[in-house]
Amino acid sequence: MRFDLHVHTTFSACSRLTLGQIWQHARSRGLDGVCITDHDTMAASDLLLEGIQPNGLCVIFGMEYATSEGDFLLFGPFEALAKGLSAPLLLREVEASGGIAIAAHPFREGRATNQQLIATGHCTIVEGINGRNRLHENLLVNHWQDLYGIRPVGGSDAHSLDELGRVATSFHAPIRNRGEFVAALKAGAYTPVTATLPMAATAPAAHAFSAHPAFAFSS
Ligand SMILES: [Zn+2]
Ligand SMILES: [Zn+2]
Repeated sequence: MRFDLHVHTTFSACSRLTLGQIWQHARSRGLDGVCITDHDTMAASDLLLEGIQPNGLCVIFGMEYATSEGDFLLFGPFEALAKGLSAPLLLREVEASGGIAIAAHPFREGRATNQQLIATGHCTIVEGINGRNRLHENLLVNHWQDLYGIRPVGGSDAHSLDELGRVATSFHAPIRNRGEFVAALKAGAYTPVTATLPMAATAPAAHAFSAHPAFAFSS
């Protein structure tokens, strides 16, 4: 199942992509699932029942949480999570609640992840391909893969419809809800992928995806 792990709706002040547009267009972008990750809020979850939609799309609600030591995509029971936590406190809370945290665009200039959080195992999953990053900001993650054995994911970081699904993560088993999604991430049963065809807003057919050459896994 191909999931875009990092998508912003208009509940993020910086995004002009509506939840309705995502719902309507994700399948034709070759996506089987979409994670809604608005900045510091899960408010979009009030508008839509989570899980498999009538059109077959699996919608999972998470959020992108900003700290001074990097931004994190969070998935778990975080609807009432306190704002303004430090990164170590946040990651401890995520761990204690059975959720999962992904270091978002860890080498993006100005929003980089503190390497110590990765080196000490506080965060074990990083975004290896971010659709809004410059190439070198994505490629730098390879170094952490070698050093720490982290397994990268991919997400578009879409803030507009044309960005939706440009990057995704391919999961090896079906996912129907947030619990199965978190479990699949923890099990490492996925591969980051990029769309191989240029995106058109009204694409008639599903796009082909390919495993990203920088992230070839043996298992
Ligand atoms: Zn944003
Ligand atoms: Zn984002």
